[in-house]
Amino acid sequence: MSDGATLNAASELIRRTGSVALACHVGPDGDALGSMLAFGLAARDADKQVTASFGSPYSVPRNLRFLPTELLVPPEEFPAAPGLMVVFDAGSAERLAELGSNAAKAEKLIVIDHHATNEGFGDVSLVDPSAAATGELVHDLLVELGWKVTPDIAQCLLTAIVTDTGRFQYASTSPRTLRLAADLVAAGASPSQVGRHVYGEAPFGYLKAAGAALDRAHLDRERGVVSTTITHTDLTDAGIDWGDIDNLIDTVRLAEEADVAVLAKVHEDGSVKVSLRSRGDTDVGSLAADMGGGGHRLAAGLTSEEPPEKVLAEIHRRIEDYR
Ligand code: 5GP
Ligand code: MN
Repeated sequence: MSDGATLNAASELIRRTGSVALACHVGPDGDALGSMLAFGLAARDADKQVTASFGSPYSVPRNLRFLPTELLVPPEEFPAAPGLMVVFDAGSAERLAELGSNAAKAEKLIVIDHHATNEGFGDVSLVDPSAAATGELVHDLLVELGWKVTPDIAQCLLTAIVTDTGRFQYASTSPRTLRLAADLVAAGASPSQVGRHVYGEAPFGYLKAAGAALDRAHLDRERGVVSTTITHTDLTDAGIDWGDIDNLIDTVRLAEEADVAVLAKVHEDGSVKVSLRSRGDTDVGSLAADMGGGGHRLAAGLTSEEPPEKVLAEIHRRIEDYR
């Protein structure tokens, strides 16, 4: 549950403003984008002027383009010093990339998030690690504001919840999560559209790039870790981009011999973005946080400027300290 006083403080700030600027974390997933767009649509329906964006690289992942994205603007068009700014699904200002400086200059900042590693930044911090998705907290806020959940808003929130619960599979899925999902479907959200766009289709090149990455997978039986890399070149050879491989970690983690799955994504500039998943025995969130990243206990990530072999070797070496 989000705490009543915090919900009240957030809704007071929102009621008083005529315009609001919204941002979510870089490389947005379904929860980040769905939560932000849901709130943005509701604010627009309440006659607020709304701008929404996320930091570079500014590209909406292909599998989320079915969402109503008309409120989005590129980060350079985001207000430099917003009167009221609301941040979604980001545990720290660094996760906003260049929009972190807009957040620092905002007159008032509201942060809505469910990461246990959240740093508690912002004037109002609506953070609840027991929520399965930031979308649950956005729904609480809409109820507090008395704002209507239209079919478009319901679709955005259902996408947030479906993606962050791994289609209702993760332990974070509570009776409250499932009741909210039922309410959202009753309000006009379409589970089949979410399923089809997010999980049921990918460009043909995905098969090639995933094939290359899976072929390189390495199983460390002793430590129970399966890991692999995917590079910028794999993607360009296959004619796809980073937003197309968000679900690849779910294939890597199928290896039943491993508790932990690691996918290192090597970008064009040499930086490495690592995704970590655990079946339950390893606190990958703490490991990621200790290596400069963050996330949840069983799903986390980090970014490094070191060569990928070195990052992966360090993860393998340290993993047993987190069991
Ligand atoms: P994913 O592997 O799907 O990108 O991210 C899994 C989880 O880890 C998400 O909750 C995400 O917010 C968090 N995460 C991923 N990358 C980073 C990172 O570079 N820094 C931090 N602080 N969290 C990350
Ligand atoms: Mn989330």
